[in-house]
Amino acid sequence: MKINMSECGVCEICIESCPLGLIKKKGFKMIIQEGCENCGECQQVCPMGCIIEDEEVID
Ligand code: SF4
Ligand code: SF4
Repeated sequence: MKINMSECGVCEICIESCPLGLIKKKGFKMIIQEGCENCGECQQVCPMGCIIEDEEVID
């Protein structure tokens, strides 16, 4: 997964959702660390819908 930062409100809700603890806040950005298994948990909780599959194009 990746985070579309142009939509992300840095609400931090997704941090707790990742069973692997891969989502971190870095400055004013959210990052997903290496090792994502595309389980979709973070996508379910994001109120902005800005966590997307790696293949999806950000426009
Ligand atoms: S839940 Fe969505 S809007 Fe909130 S910090 Fe995570 S990616 Fe950004
Ligand atoms: S898809 Fe799953 S493993 Fe990947 S960042 Fe989201 S919650 Fe974590």
